[in-house]
Amino acid sequence: MVKICCIGAGYVGGPTMAVIALKCPDIEVAVVDISVPRITAWNSDQLPIYEPGLEDVVKQCRGKNLFFSTDVEKHVCEADIVFVSVNTPTKTRGLGAGKAADLTYWESAARMIADVSKSDKIVVEKSTVPVKTAEAIEKILTHNSKGINFQILSNPEFLAEGTAIEDLFKPDRVLIGGRETPAGQKAIKTLKDVYAHWVPDENIITTNLWSAELSKLAANAFLAQRISSVNAMSALCEATGANVNEVSYAIGKDTRIGSKFLNPSVGFGGSCFQKDILNLVYICECNGLPEVAEYWRQVIKINDYQKSRFVNRVVASMFNTVSNKKIAVLGFAFKKDTGDTRETPAIDVCKGLLGDKASLSIYDPQVTEDQIQRDLSMNKFDWDHPLHLQPMSPSTVKQVRVVWDAYAATKDAHGVCILTEWNEFKTLDFQKIYDNMQKPAFVFDGRNIVDVEKLRNIGFIVYSIGKPLDA
Ligand code: NAD
Repeated sequence: MVKICCIGAGYVGGPTMAVIALKCPDIEVAVVDISVPRITAWNSDQLPIYEPGLEDVVKQCRGKNLFFSTDVEKHVCEADIVFVSVNTPTKTRGLGAGKAADLTYWESAARMIADVSKSDKIVVEKSTVPVKTAEAIEKILTHNSKGINFQILSNPEFLAEGTAIEDLFKPDRVLIGGRETPAGQKAIKTLKDVYAHWVPDENIITTNLWSAELSKLAANAFLAQRISSVNAMSALCEATGANVNEVSYAIGKDTRIGSKFLNPSVGFGGSCFQKDILNLVYICECNGLPEVAEYWRQVIKINDYQKSRFVNRVVASMFNTVSNKKIAVLGFAFKKDTGDTRETPAIDVCKGLLGDKASLSIYDPQVTEDQIQRDLSMNKFDWDHPLHLQPMSPSTVKQVRVVWDAYAATKDAHGVCILTEWNEFKTLDFQKIYDNMQKPAFVFDGRNIVDVEKLRNIGFIVYSIGKPLDA
C-alpha cells in the first residue's frame, strides 16, 4: 500500500488529504501537525475548519485510510510521498520584510524530513512558495540525505476556501512540476497516478518545477487583479452615475473577458492573495524587474484604497462622524462559507470605524468572538511605511460586541455594514431591522447583495459599492 504523509493539517492539508483518502482507498494517508489542538479537533466531531462537505468526507475515511496525528516524524519516516502544506506567511522582519515569503516552517519541515528518512521519498510542495524554492529544498535534503534519494515535485493547490471540497472533487486542473531527469519524470508519474484515481488525464498538467511554482503565484495575482480592476471601476461608477453591476455584466459578456470574478466588493481578503502578490513583487525586484513589481503592487494598493474608501463613505454619510454611534457589522469572514478571517477586509473596515470611535456590534455565522477580538487587537505590518500600525488599545476593543444573530446586531444601530456575502444576509427581514434601528437608518453594502430599491422604499439610506448614490 502506498503511504502518503502530509505535513500541515490546515485549510489546505486537511481537506486535500481527506479527498485523496476518499478517492484512493488503496492509499494510506496520514496528516500530521505540530499543533496538538488542531490534530485533536481533526480527530473529533468539531473539525478545526468549516468547509461545506468536509465533515462528510472526513467521517467516511477517518480511521480507515485517513489518520490525523502529531507524531510527525513517525509518519514522515514511513511515507513514500510526503506533501508539505505548512504555512508560508509574509516575512515580518529582516531581509524582504513585508514582502518576501517566510520559509521558516518549510525549511524546518525539510530538515526534519532529511533527518528522519530511512527510505527514498517524493517530497511535494503543496504550500505556495516562491519560484526556485525547490532548488533550496533540494540542497537541504541532498546535503543531509545519508544516501537517500529525494525527488522534489511542485503540486500547488488551487482550491478556494468555501468551495474546497467541490474544487478538490472536480479540479479545473492539477498541476505537477518536476525535474526533467528520468527520476524526476518517474516521480511525476507516481503522483499523477494518485490523482488519476478521480481526475481525468486531460486535467492533469505536467511542467518543469519553476513553471509550476510560478503558476500558483501568477494565478492568484491574476485573480486578485480582476477584483482590483472591477473595484477600481466601482469608484468611477460612483463618480459618474454608472452602475458597476451593469458594467460588469456588459464587459463579462465578452468571451475574451468572461463573467466570473467580476463582483465588486469592499476588497479581497484571505490568507493568499495579498501575501502571494507581495511575494511576486519581491521576486520581481530581486530579478531586476522594478516596473513589473510596481505593476503588481498596484493590485494591492487598489485593494487598500477600496477598504479605506468604504470606511470614508460610511463616516461621511453619517454626518462626518461615527463617534459613539452603533454600527452593526454583518459578516467578518473574508468570504462566505468559511470561518477564516485571515486578511479579511472586515479587520481594516472595523479598525477604521473604531478609529472614529464607533461602537461595533458584529455578527458572523462562523466566526467566534475570540477570533474577532484577536483580529482587532493584532498588529498589521504596513509594507508601504516603515512603521508598524499601532495595535488597538484594550479600551478600543471594548467598543466591540460580538452577537449571535443579525437582528441582535442591528437593534438600535445607526448603521449596518455588510462585509461578507453570507446567503442569510440576502434574505433578512429588512423591515424588521429598520423598525428597530435609530433613524435615519443607513445600510452600507460592501458586497452588493441587497436589493437597493427595496431597502430605499423601506426608508433606509443605502450605499452599495459602485451603484448610484441616494439623491
Ligand atoms: P494553515 O496555517 O491553515 O496550516 C498550516 C499548518 O502547518 C498549521 O496547522 C501549522 O501548525 C502546520 N505546521 C507548520 N510547520 C509545521 C511543521 N514543521 N510540522 C508540522 N506542521 C507544521 O495554512 P493553509 O491555509 O493550509 O495554507 C498552507 C499553504 O497552502 C500556504 O502556503 C498557503 O499559501 C497555501 N494555500 C492556501 C490556500 C487557502 O485557501 N488557504 C489555497 C491554496 C494554497
